[in-house]
Amino acid sequence: MAVWYVHRCGNCGYIIETSGQHEFYRDKDGKRKSYGHPTPASKEAEECGICGWYAKEYCVSCDEVIEVVTEEYEEPEPKTRFWSDWSEGPEFPEQMLEVFSERLDLAEQRKKAEEGGGKVITCPKCSGFDLVLGPREELICPVCKKVGMKGEMKWMS
Ligand SMILES: [Zn+2]
Ligand SMILES: [Zn+2]
Repeated sequence: MAVWYVHRCGNCGYIIETSGQHEFYRDKDGKRKSYGHPTPASKEAEECGICGWYAKEYCVSCDEVIEVVTEEYEEPEPKTRFWSDWSEGPEFPEQMLEVFSERLDLAEQRKKAEEGGGKVITCPKCSGFDLVLGPREELICPVCKKVGMKGEMKWMS
């Protein structure tokens, strides 16, 4: 279950696209693959179950959209626990709850997690934790450097 966002610069028209949370599974070599939604994308995915969630987020310091694993289960979750009854499914990633409760300031959330010793999601390239998924008011356009890219939900699936 994922939400797609478009962040558009009102000045130069530059666009950044982010999305999450996407289900993933791991193949027999441990490689992370997209599980598919709402149904498994392949027989392999179906047989494995959901190993966790990932998101495509914009890393402010790298100025790139990167993939981050936001939650990984110790044991894969069979799909039936997800699709048949949401209330009985496994715990969703914290970020996912943020998306649906409009608490979208992820950098702030992470700072809190870090201070409290909680789990912090970082960029796989630069280890920075200033990652953007949902709309953020003070987002600076990487092209023209103007503050205030406008983030909007594009669709949900
Ligand atoms: Zn980075
Ligand atoms: Zn711009």
